[in-house]
Amino acid sequence: DSVSLKRYLTWLQRRHRNLSELLERGPPKNASPGSYYCNSSSRSVFLSSFVAVYGKGGIGKSTTSCNISIALARRGKKVLQIGCDPKHDSTFTLTGFLIPTIIDTLQVKDYHYEDVWPEDVIYKGYGGVDCVEAGGPPAGAGCGGYVVGETVKLLKELNAFYEYDIILFDVLGDVVCGGFAAPLNYADYCIIITDNGFDALFAANRISASVREKSNTHPLRLAGLVGNRTSERDLIDKYVESCPMLVLEVLPLVEDIRISRVKGKTLFEMAEYQENLNYVFIPREIPDRELFSLPSDF
Ligand code: ADP
Ligand code: MG
Repeated sequence: DSVSLKRYLTWLQRRHRNLSELLERGPPKNASPGSYYCNSSSRSVFLSSFVAVYGKGGIGKSTTSCNISIALARRGKKVLQIGCDPKHDSTFTLTGFLIPTIIDTLQVKDYHYEDVWPEDVIYKGYGGVDCVEAGGPPAGAGCGGYVVGETVKLLKELNAFYEYDIILFDVLGDVVCGGFAAPLNYADYCIIITDNGFDALFAANRISASVREKSNTHPLRLAGLVGNRTSERDLIDKYVESCPMLVLEVLPLVEDIRISRVKGKTLFEMAEYQENLNYVFIPREIPDRELFSLPSDF
């Protein structure tokens, strides 16, 4: 429906502006002294802002990540989005296909890391956003977390992290251990996606615990919660009342987002050829008298 869609697009524009400003500021200033230098990841050497998106499975992490990435790219940022979910579909709406994963590439190269080049694993997506998919072990075998850890290691070895203003990790839900926690070692900000249901907030709470723990030794801070695909927010509000944190926005279910997923395009790309999605429009003003009579309707 056009009202919720308009709200979503307005949110994106507003949010990416706020988020972009936040990211431009770089790592939070109140990070514990020395934290930049003491951990082995040498996070301090990178000038980029790192964002990690976490949340329960299917909650809308990839959808939100892709839209935030494009929004930031449109503000002139060079963005790398790294899909860290074994489902390897994080960047699908950016590229329009399931790109070869790091694991696929390593398999082809017989696990000779030194034979992997950036162009083997980094694909150009819509809006100039660069895309990487970590991939995962075959279902039921191996450890997905290990794959994420290796992905970060490989990208570091390829010097890929020097190339970007913003690096966005689209991670996972409930599993914040091992390699799946690796993005938190780099991230300046964590964004948690939730809905108004108990299970998503349960996952959010566990992710918060990991963020709190990591923030002792890393510059990581929580940017806040994004409520997605929900018209209600009472449980979210109840949660943040007892556990204070920012709610960045609450978004409704938007039918066009569901369609955009099937089409392998983001809303931004769909808006290019679908007129009713075009949010950059020529405005129409209402007469002053009509405007002044609006408050009486409240
Ligand atoms: P995750 O990455 O958390 O597993 P996805 O971003 O892949 O979740 O979203 C799961 C499904 O929900 C996708 O089909 C996506 O298009 C749909 N979706 C996400 N957010 C919304 C929304 N606000 N309105 C409608 N559909 C949505
Ligand atoms: Mg996903």
